[in-house]
Amino acid sequence: MSAIDADRFRELLEDERRRVVAAIDNLHAEHPGSMRDESGEDAVYDNHLADTATETYDRELDYTLEENSGHVLSDIEAALKRIQDGTYGRCTGCEQQIPEERLEARPWATLCINCQRTREGR
Ligand SMILES: [Zn+2]
Repeated sequence: MSAIDADRFRELLEDERRRVVAAIDNLHAEHPGSMRDESGEDAVYDNHLADTATETYDRELDYTLEENSGHVLSDIEAALKRIQDGTYGRCTGCEQQIPEERLEARPWATLCINCQRTREGR
């Protein structure tokens, strides 16, 4: 008697996974060697390369920084697995149903807002 439409969230997650995978590919393709700066400035700041890249991709792709992408990707995989297992949408902290609007914003969420806040210690 799940209130969650798992199929819909599976589609959301699969879309998101495609985007993240594409973003990771993109990062790997653009990073090595010649740094192309899309802001139009010449990328001559060798010692600031990481910062420059971070800012560029941060602006363009939001959470798709390389390390975050890997993190989100494994979260997405885990969420897809939970859909298969039939445990999707349940908070791993308190076992309550995670509100659907939270899942729409973060389909890979494993904690409800309350548990998330508790976990973060705020
Ligand atoms: Zn909870």
